[in-house]
Amino acid sequence: MAQRDADCLFCKIVAGEIPADIVTKDDEIVAFRDINPQAPTHVLVIPREHFPTAAAAGSADRGLMDAIARVAGEVARIDGVADDGYRLVFNTGPAAGQEVFHVHGHVLGGRSLTWPPG
Ligand code: 5GP
Ligand code: ZN
Repeated sequence: MAQRDADCLFCKIVAGEIPADIVTKDDEIVAFRDINPQAPTHVLVIPREHFPTAAAAGSADRGLMDAIARVAGEVARIDGVADDGYRLVFNTGPAAGQEVFHVHGHVLGGRSLTWPPG
């Protein structure tokens, strides 16, 4: 039985209970546009199953982090940013600004994203 958190915003998006602008999806993963984009491409890539953090999803040893990375690459191709490059970010915990505790990779592209900035 897949884990779901009844109070989780992204579980509700997976279930279709809250609308989202879906970019691509498969049996394991859903990718949808961030509601408050920080770059021309800003897509969130999540597993259908609820894990609070990237570490928790990785520890489940189910290949979900691999699947997120693969779908992030598909998203970059769909948006035409794969060749220029993009950033794949997992905020983890309050100090990193994680607000939604359902693991999500941010795919950011379409502008300069070098780090450190400047
Ligand atoms: P975090 O800060 O947890 O790494 O990222 C959460 C992201 O989810 C933020 O970039 C925020 O804009 C996005 N977000 C929050 N609520 C919604 C929503 O209802 N729909 C979509 N598409 N994105 C959301
Ligand atoms: Zn969830």
